[in-house]
Amino acid sequence: MTSPTFWMTTLGCAKNQVDSEKIVGLLELAGYHGAESAEEADVVLVNTCAFIDAARQESVETILEADQSRNPEAKLVVVGCLAQRFGEEIRSAIPEVDAVVGIDHYPHLLETVSSLAGWQPVPLRRSAMDILHDVRRATPTLPYAYLKVAEGCDKQCTFCAIPGIRGRQRSRPIGEIVAEARHLVADGVRELVLVAQDLAAYGRDLAPRVTISDLLDAVVAVDDLERVRLLYLYPSEIRRPLIERIAGYESVASYFDLSLQHADSELLRAMGRVGGIDRYRDLIEQIRQADPLAALRSSFIVGFPGETEGHVETLGEFLREVQLDWAGFFPYSPEDGTPAALLPGRVDPTDIADRARYLQQIQDDITSARNAQQVGRELQVLVDQIEDGVPVGRSYREAPEIDGMITLDAGMPGEIVRARVVGSYGSDLQAEVVA
Ligand code: SF4
Repeated sequence: MTSPTFWMTTLGCAKNQVDSEKIVGLLELAGYHGAESAEEADVVLVNTCAFIDAARQESVETILEADQSRNPEAKLVVVGCLAQRFGEEIRSAIPEVDAVVGIDHYPHLLETVSSLAGWQPVPLRRSAMDILHDVRRATPTLPYAYLKVAEGCDKQCTFCAIPGIRGRQRSRPIGEIVAEARHLVADGVRELVLVAQDLAAYGRDLAPRVTISDLLDAVVAVDDLERVRLLYLYPSEIRRPLIERIAGYESVASYFDLSLQHADSELLRAMGRVGGIDRYRDLIEQIRQADPLAALRSSFIVGFPGETEGHVETLGEFLREVQLDWAGFFPYSPEDGTPAALLPGRVDPTDIADRARYLQQIQDDITSARNAQQVGRELQVLVDQIEDGVPVGRSYREAPEIDGMITLDAGMPGEIVRARVVGSYGSDLQAEVVA
């Protein structure tokens, strides 16, 4: 029997993307091959998300689509957060699925897939879990890659189901992360995006204890690594040493992804979040003192139980005051098993949608205005890809897949070019290469 082929569909966050890349690495080490399409694959895997209701619906729809599109002999395997949290429900509700493998069962994923495929995988010299830890990922198709530095979260935000899905924080040792960074750079990656559920708390669970600043010192020392970016920074965990490193290191994008979630202190307390409008103002002030040109992003929850029009106005005023470069607004989704789901004062979904639109409009105007201020500046731009014959890329100000892009008049994927901004179009910029 020739070695089976597989197809992986990935949903959800950057951390899930890393998991998919590692599962693909494990399957390839075991002798499986990537199929040209889902229809041709012997094994179809769907890596699901269960963060909020909308994500769960998308996961279920994707599983059903995969079932419809697969060839009749193919096996359908569901992995990821939905499998971890609702394994039994998936098995009973979608009997077409051949296997459901939650995150805790990844050490047995290869056995499960191989028994389904009726194929004896190539013997591995290490355990599947060890391999999943540091397997060399498939050669990235883009010049940036996410690097997951920890799993799980120790915080107890009242709206969030992630600690229940992904467990307590487990930081990876610095040496292991640096080794993976070297592999990725050797495979052509120019920008590494460090991710975790609570990145700024990295290393707190390790013995001896280390910090995110220690990790950053080690990662920036990786040869030929052009850019490092940090995502998911819990505001009250951001200390001066980290601010100085993000703003100070040449190869670290002076980009602060602050998950503020709201600006009203009363609501933040109900969310179980440490912080408040005054502390956020101070933090943003500290960052801008360290680097006046730093780029700031945040995510916000809209429609948390008890949220009033007044709270929304407070957030709107805060946005106008602090002038973030980017922000995303997420409708509150009651998550079973979370304290917030039991809170009174549910906000009508129509009102939530209206409020999110209102706040997004305020932010879109701010983003456009801050982008317009970039005209005339010269920026180092990493060319990500060619779209319709046009090179597109990002400077330190734009994170992959969530912020705007920069269109260029020249440049090849993976190249870092110096370009002068000649135009701004809402969230995107246009620039001409000067060197
Ligand atoms: S810090 Fe993030 S992942 Fe952790 S509980 Fe809060 S929202 Fe969830």
